[in-house]
Amino acid sequence: MDQLPARFNPAELARSGRAAQTTLPVSHFSRFAAILADNSGDVEIRTTFGWTDDKHLIANGTQTCVVNMTCQRCQRVLQAQLSSEFSLVFVAQEEDAEDLPEHLDPVIIGENEEIHVVDFIEDELILQIPSRVVHEDESDCDPAVIAALSGGQEKPAKTHNPFAGLDDLLKK
Ligand SMILES: [Zn+2]
Repeated sequence: MDQLPARFNPAELARSGRAAQTTLPVSHFSRFAAILADNSGDVEIRTTFGWTDDKHLIANGTQTCVVNMTCQRCQRVLQAQLSSEFSLVFVAQEEDAEDLPEHLDPVIIGENEEIHVVDFIEDELILQIPSRVVHEDESDCDPAVIAALSGGQEKPAKTHNPFAGLDDLLKK
């Protein structure tokens, strides 16, 4: 598998037909890292490039990263793996994205036909962050906070699902 350069021309890579991969520190993704507890961890990207039947330049691949986020219940840091499969279509400008089928996410590449790997994948990374981040197992939470939350009061009846908000996020 080829190394994906920091800046690349996806049309060239599509012509080569070869899969490419790269690993980048989370700290390179400033908008993504700003939502996390810190900027530790790496993002692994594997992708191939090609053309759809209607001649759109497309990147199909997977990304995986292990990141630190802050539990919204107890404020302790938790580690989570965020992975996804993506199908990203390159368009020259925003207006070109409007005609795309819904399952294809646009990446604006501009007129020079090259893109930096951060601009290529950062929106995809941000999309994987659940809207509610909590320790899956409440016993991993800070016991002092749990005691304070339940002290003297009825426990809230609703169960916590860290991914409950994600469906809403993806529907938009
Ligand atoms: Zn917690």
